[in-house]
Amino acid sequence: MSNKSAAPAGCPCGGPSLAACCGPYIAGAAIPPTAETLMRSRYTAYGLRDERYLLATWHASTRPAEPIIGDEEKLQWLGLEVKSALRLRQRKAEVAPEASAQADPDRDTVEFVARFKVNGKAQRLHEISNFVREPAEGGPRWFYVDGSFPE
Ligand SMILES: [Zn+2]
Repeated sequence: MSNKSAAPAGCPCGGPSLAACCGPYIAGAAIPPTAETLMRSRYTAYGLRDERYLLATWHASTRPAEPIIGDEEKLQWLGLEVKSALRLRQRKAEVAPEASAQADPDRDTVEFVARFKVNGKAQRLHEISNFVREPAEGGPRWFYVDGSFPE
């Protein structure tokens, strides 16, 4: 009874499908191996209104106490564009080569542009997110710490 002409639903983050992309991370079946995969899965979790996952992947030092997603808010995610995390690192390396040489493998940044609609109004979020990797149950995990907004 499936519609044969329907295109397979892609992952909200832009991946081929939820099951082959962010789904296993959000379900807890796998641990995001990089800061970028964590960032993508958090974007997808926002779209799915999965607050539990958002809180679980938020670093304890910056995790909000209040609900993240308001019940009243009609939030519709339109798309995600991840700027190359590598390019960002290279840019930083040009500015401060010494800092890059001492780069901490347990810290990473991901720059992205997320487009969404709040109550029908289109918005654009350009953020550089900071991530940290820490030992956790089941092995080291990446956590979202905070972000800065270049615009
Ligand atoms: Zn995805």
